[in-house]
Amino acid sequence: MSDDRAIARAAEAVASADALLIGAGAGMGVDGGLPDFRGNEGFWRAYPPFAKLGLGFAALASPRWFRDDPALAWGFYGHRLELYRRTVPHQGFAILKRWADRMPRGGFVLTSNVDGSFQRAGFPADRIHEVHGAIDFLQCLDLCGVGTFPAEGVSVTVDPSTMRAVGGLPRCPNCGALARPNILMFGDAGWDDSTAEAQFRRLRDWLRSLDAARLVVVECGAGTAIPTVRLHCEDLAERPGAVLIRINPREAHAPPGAISLASGALKALESIDQHIGT
Ligand SMILES: [Zn+2]
Repeated sequence: MSDDRAIARAAEAVASADALLIGAGAGMGVDGGLPDFRGNEGFWRAYPPFAKLGLGFAALASPRWFRDDPALAWGFYGHRLELYRRTVPHQGFAILKRWADRMPRGGFVLTSNVDGSFQRAGFPADRIHEVHGAIDFLQCLDLCGVGTFPAEGVSVTVDPSTMRAVGGLPRCPNCGALARPNILMFGDAGWDDSTAEAQFRRLRDWLRSLDAARLVVVECGAGTAIPTVRLHCEDLAERPGAVLIRINPREAHAPPGAISLASGALKALESIDQHIGT
């Protein structure tokens, strides 16, 4: 299928749908200038101090550092907290929000990104499922029963030359233990999944409420490395009448019947949106 034909088909699918499920992976944020964490080279270019330590993204995204070296752990996550707060969601988010608002049955977001960009783009928090948690929520490292709590007002000073946190670190408001981001890390048995579970139940209820409504699934930058979102979108596309639009510059291959666009998220969303408008 040529790109033009695929864009025309995608525009038709969006324009005729009753409900929109947005699936977002790492590729959605990269278009907005966020560093690409895939592959050590790109990661170390963005964070030279971690190159010196020989620590890649997967090694750093481990709960063990909060016990073994809290200043290193909070250097990494404190920096990302500030970075994501500063990052303005790109225009693709606004396009998706406009589509969702136009759907008779509304929209829902399923994202593996922890950056809170959909909330920042104005999507209602009760229509977002963050499968790997979110940086804007913290939890107690000791799981004392406090649950998750907002990171609002929390800031961590990071020395850019070492990427280590300096000064006080976030604490659990209940027991005073160290707090950590409510993000699912690698090998993470201590993740408090209560917020993500509640979001999942809302998504499930919304999907059930759709009955025979026509669902369009727009999947942006969700790759095969950590395929949670990608597989979930493929499952949803099996619903009667559902259509999957897969947007992915490197891994656009899709099941039969899906619309596949080998492109970055922003560019593809703009092309589809223009086509709907004409
Ligand atoms: Zn606690």
